[in-house]
Amino acid sequence: MSAVDAAAVAAWVREFTRLVHEQRDELTRLDAAIGDADHGTNLDRGTAAAVAALGARPADDAAAVLTTVAMTLIKTVGGASGPLYGTFFLRAAGALDGDDGRAVAAAVRAGYDGVVARGRAERGDKTMLDALGPACDALDGAVAAGRSLEEALGAAAEAAAAGRDATAPLVARKGRASYLGERSAGHVDPGAASAALLVQAAATALAGRG
Ligand code: ADP
Ligand code: MG
Repeated sequence: MSAVDAAAVAAWVREFTRLVHEQRDELTRLDAAIGDADHGTNLDRGTAAAVAALGARPADDAAAVLTTVAMTLIKTVGGASGPLYGTFFLRAAGALDGDDGRAVAAAVRAGYDGVVARGRAERGDKTMLDALGPACDALDGAVAAGRSLEEALGAAAEAAAAGRDATAPLVARKGRASYLGERSAGHVDPGAASAALLVQAAATALAGRG
C-alpha cells in the first residue's frame, strides 16, 4: 500500500482548500452569528496561498509540506484561527516520523496538543478543539485497534463532524464568541466547522494510503 508521502500530504492540503472554498460562505455565516464574519474569507485566502506556495516550491518530504503550509497560514490567515492552524501544521510537521497510520495519528495528535498549548482552551470551550479532539481520539483508537488508515480517518471525520455539531448548544469560553456570553449558545462554532473539513479532507485525500 502506498505511503503517506509528500504528495499525499499535499493532496490533503489541496482537498482542505477545496472544501474551505466550497464552504467559505457557510463558514463566514457561522462567524457572522457569533464573531466578526471573517472566518470563511480568512481561511479561503490562507489555504489558497498555501496551495500556491506548495506549487511554487515542491517539497520532497511530507514534513516540509506541512511546514510550508504552517508558515503560509500564519502569514496570510490572520485572526485567531491563523496562528492556531499554523501551530497545528507546524507541530504536526515536527512530530511526523514515518509514513503509516501510526505516524499520521501521532502527527495529528501533536498538532492538536499544539493548538491546546497555544490557545489555552479546553474541549467544551466551543472552539476548533471540539472537532479536533474527538477526531484525534477516534484516529488513535482505530489505529491502535489495527484498522486501516482509511477506516481510521473515516472514523475521525465522523467524530469531528459530531464534535462540530455538539458545539451548537455550548456557551463560548474562548475567542471572540466568548464576548457574547450566553448569546453564543445556539450556533455552531465556525472554527469547529472548518476543523471538521480538515479531518474530512484527510479522510478523502489519504484514503488507500498508509
Ligand atoms: P477571529 O475570531 O480572530 O475573527 P477567526 O474568525 O478566523 O478568528 O476564527 C475563529 C475561530 O477560532 C473560532 O470559531 C474558534 O474555533 C477558534 N478559536 C478562537 N480562539 C481559540 C482558542 N483560544 N483556542 C482554540 N480555538 C480558538
Ligand atoms: Mg472571525
